[in-house]
Amino acid sequence: KILLDIHDLHASIDGKEILKGINLTVREGEVHAIMGPNGSGKSTLSMVLAGAPGYSVTEGTVDFHGKELLELSPEDRSHEGLFLSFQYPVEIPGVSMVNFMRAAVNEKRKYFNEAPLSASDFLKLMRQKRAIVELDNKLASRSVNEGFSGGEKKRNEIFQMAVLEPRLSILDETDSGLDIDALRIVAGGVNKLKTDRNATIVITHYQRLLDYIKPDFVHVLYKGRIVRTGGPELALELEEKGYDWIKQGENIQD
Ligand code: ADP
Ligand code: MG
Ligand code: MG
Repeated sequence: KILLDIHDLHASIDGKEILKGINLTVREGEVHAIMGPNGSGKSTLSMVLAGAPGYSVTEGTVDFHGKELLELSPEDRSHEGLFLSFQYPVEIPGVSMVNFMRAAVNEKRKYFNEAPLSASDFLKLMRQKRAIVELDNKLASRSVNEGFSGGEKKRNEIFQMAVLEPRLSILDETDSGLDIDALRIVAGGVNKLKTDRNATIVITHYQRLLDYIKPDFVHVLYKGRIVRTGGPELALELEEKGYDWIKQGENIQD
């Protein structure tokens, strides 16, 4: 069953076209990797899907399980089951993770006309999800991301993902890269939370992460277009040959 269907998506920043006609179909149960050289538009794609301000969509449609994603507010996209890692990168002093997550869970329930969770049901949910991502109780009681290490922030993010149970998670791992610890946390969480009803898009410059998260499809984004699609072997080929191979093979106009 198709979960996300991106059709001829064009988007600009400050009048400059960055995405030049993206087509991508993601079905339930699938893991897609999007790779590509720096500056190709990978992060722009995830920001546009999340509805971040400053990006204008000039053409195209994005069907998200039967709804036009681009017409929904960023909050409603999240309620409808879209999760973007780095969605909550901010530190929120004085607001514990637990209270933050309570608000997030109850906002979503409200969207679906459901009553807020009782305190005991919420704590039960927290315990259950904490166990999945091996997040200790101390971290959950601390203020959101305040003074968290890189690894703790990642664990926290995967915890949010576990609690919100998104239908589609987009993980944009910035090019700065994750240390091996953070990599294991992210991959372990993604693999544990994978079901045949949800899907994941992993955006990465490096093949490394794909040693831990096995993609069903690998796409290469270059100059705002998907120029290659293949299986996991495509990531290995890229690792071996580098992106110059793609650049030389493509006669792409700016
Ligand atoms: P990637 O994630 O693949 O490295 P990005 O989506 O970050 O690529 O960037 C794609 C292009 O958009 C680059 O040319 C970059 O300079 C430009 N760009 C990204 N963000 C902004 C911004 N906020 N303002 C202007 N240009 C931007
Ligand atoms: Mg970049
Ligand atoms: Mg990027």
